[in-house]
Amino acid sequence: MSLQMKKRELESIRAHAAQDYPRECCGVLLGKAEADGKRVTEVVPLANLRHDPNRAQEILPLDDPGRETEKNRFLIDPLDQLRVEKDARARGLDVLGYYHSHPDHPARPSNYDRDHAWPWYSYVIISVERGVPKDLTSWVLAEDRSAFGAESLTIVD
Ligand SMILES: [Zn+2]
Repeated sequence: MSLQMKKRELESIRAHAAQDYPRECCGVLLGKAEADGKRVTEVVPLANLRHDPNRAQEILPLDDPGRETEKNRFLIDPLDQLRVEKDARARGLDVLGYYHSHPDHPARPSNYDRDHAWPWYSYVIISVERGVPKDLTSWVLAEDRSAFGAESLTIVD
């Protein structure tokens, strides 16, 4: 599979990542899954629930809440997830994947990212260095969940 995205969506992810720096931003990728790849037609920015540590900890506890914060972890509110999925379905769109930023870290998935991902979906990661959005990559988890593989990403006008 490959992921295709318009320049407009790319810019939207970059803007969100810069705005939320030095915290991790996150959002959902909507569009259509075609035989030749996934085509993103819409990017839905969401709040990183880790900004509310108490509620986030209830939903998905962290091993080390002292070290793991909204600066290096993201969590999508299950209520946001449901709302976005329902809205997408009503408009004939699919949830193709998710994006999040890595403030002052490379655009490569962490072990934590791998442990909390599902196969098939695209995981777009954007690195932000000192507030400036840099590399943007996409990853897909292997069916056996052992590792992420890089996914080819095409930006179209
Ligand atoms: Zn990550």
